[in-house]
Amino acid sequence: MCGIVGFVGNKKAAPVLLDGLERLEYRGYDSAGISVIENGKFKIEKTVERIKNLKDITNNGEDITGTIGIGHTRWATHGAPSFENAHPHISANGKITVVHNGIIENYMDIKSELIADGFKFVSETDTEVIAHLIQKYYNGDMFDAIKKAVDRLEGSYALGIISLDKPDTLFAVRHFSPLIVGLGPDGNYIGSDVTALIKYTKNAVYIEDGEIAVLTADSAKFYNKDGKEIKKEVSVINWSIDAAEKGGYDHFMMKEIMEEPEALRKTIEPRIKNGEIYFEGLKLSKDKIKHIKRIVITACGSAYHTGICAKYMFEELLRIPVDVDLASEFRYRNPIIDNESLVIIISQSGETADTLAALKEAKARGAHILSIVNVVGSSIAKASDDVIYTWAGPEIAVATTKGYTTQLAVLYMFGIYAAKIKESADNKLLGELVSELSNLNKKVEEVLELKPKLSDLAKKFCQEQQVFFIGRNMDYATAMEGSLKLKEISYIGSEAYAAGELKHGTISLIEPGRLVVALNCYEDLSDKLMSNIKEVVSRGAFVLATAFTGNEEIKKYANEVIYLPKVHPLLLSAVEIIPLQIFAYYISLHKGCDIDKPRNLAKSVTVE
Ligand code: GLU
Repeated sequence: MCGIVGFVGNKKAAPVLLDGLERLEYRGYDSAGISVIENGKFKIEKTVERIKNLKDITNNGEDITGTIGIGHTRWATHGAPSFENAHPHISANGKITVVHNGIIENYMDIKSELIADGFKFVSETDTEVIAHLIQKYYNGDMFDAIKKAVDRLEGSYALGIISLDKPDTLFAVRHFSPLIVGLGPDGNYIGSDVTALIKYTKNAVYIEDGEIAVLTADSAKFYNKDGKEIKKEVSVINWSIDAAEKGGYDHFMMKEIMEEPEALRKTIEPRIKNGEIYFEGLKLSKDKIKHIKRIVITACGSAYHTGICAKYMFEELLRIPVDVDLASEFRYRNPIIDNESLVIIISQSGETADTLAALKEAKARGAHILSIVNVVGSSIAKASDDVIYTWAGPEIAVATTKGYTTQLAVLYMFGIYAAKIKESADNKLLGELVSELSNLNKKVEEVLELKPKLSDLAKKFCQEQQVFFIGRNMDYATAMEGSLKLKEISYIGSEAYAAGELKHGTISLIEPGRLVVALNCYEDLSDKLMSNIKEVVSRGAFVLATAFTGNEEIKKYANEVIYLPKVHPLLLSAVEIIPLQIFAYYISLHKGCDIDKPRNLAKSVTVE
């Protein structure tokens, strides 16, 4: 969870660390800190407030002159969010500081051993054992001490380490937690993800589990878990710095909503060639696809909702059963997977802990793993047999928007691609879907023009306590995501129901004035939904409906209608979700909530 940055080079480290931490704020954190070596001593600053506070007390880092340092944003797992528990943590002799993302599962055993050795602990964290353990093993060789220490650790960790005895060297190591190295003209960097680095360099080295990076101002060496030096490939990051900043919007969430047409274009366009879907480098053979008898999709949160949309689409096109499972349930359920099942794993960050664990579970049972991920080089991407990237660019707001729609786009493309191979759907229909896909970005662009109307509506409803979303088929799948979007950023109680379920209980909650968002773009079932709308209106609900342009009938029943450009029913969620994202954004804005960083939530959920 959260973030790590580190720098060693020919300029002041603290401004780099603070800037990097600020860019990692989106990952969610409860405290932060930096440690810089200055005149042979550590200069450590911590805060339980925002990074801005660290900037204020250090004059944006300029008051600290050292050129090597590490920084951290913490999401507490062991010990409450507090000053003492904030990282960096320091060894008992005061000579080593460490930042850590992840969880050390065997820290209690190590802690007891270290206490018996006479080490005194000042925090409740699992991390502190690492600093003391390195001290314990230090015998004049930091690399050797770090290697011995990490060999003892079980769990997940990304570590940045500096020491007074080796004041020109920054050490980094990872195991199941993200960490990359950046090679710059004026020094070398580490970061939890590229957003912390791209201002300074586009040359990145992705460290694998167990590898150790040893960085000085003008050298970068890498070692495998046996301590043998290895050559690493340098990748060029093609995200621009603007892409990781707000680009003039008040919030990342709105910036990212506005980027949806472009993100969809980037994700879809390169995969359509001569009217057909094409995936470069897919290992999943056509023969294997022909023989797939079942698809299992597993994911968390919004990614899980894209899986529900895919179920409706895949079953229609492929005529095989599709199960969608929450990763946190799948991983502990002894799932039934055989070699005729394809397992699709979906995660924007590629670091979602439960999803990664579900992946490993499925892999152990022999399934071919196809993942849909946004972050290149992430743990899920690396552990999969095949990855189809959503080329959405960095997503900073905690509430996913372009991550969600681009995941849908990949699923749509995969559905069409597999149906063609399986010959399970009419070719004419598949052709139509491909051409609709190439226009999806334009339809989404049209929907963005509804912003003023949605803002007005949101003003009217921002004081609601409870909202219901209803729909059938694809509309129901979209309702689930619309409801989650609203609740996660506005804190309004919100539930999504298959409209046919209303009369099995939920309708008792409908009272005069209650807002019901009725999704009505799935035209085959429009009449049925219209009946459900009548049911809630007659009990006093205020109905805000979606419909495709031209549907006049709906106006007779709904109090407000949001008209959307018509799109094929199998692809409708990618268009219909847009007004729901914008509506949630404005509700949150009018309520005065922290839109990009909703309370208690984090972007990249790397603990279970
Ligand atoms: N487990 C560590 C702690 O609680 C690190 C948490 C993190 O990833 O920030 O301090």
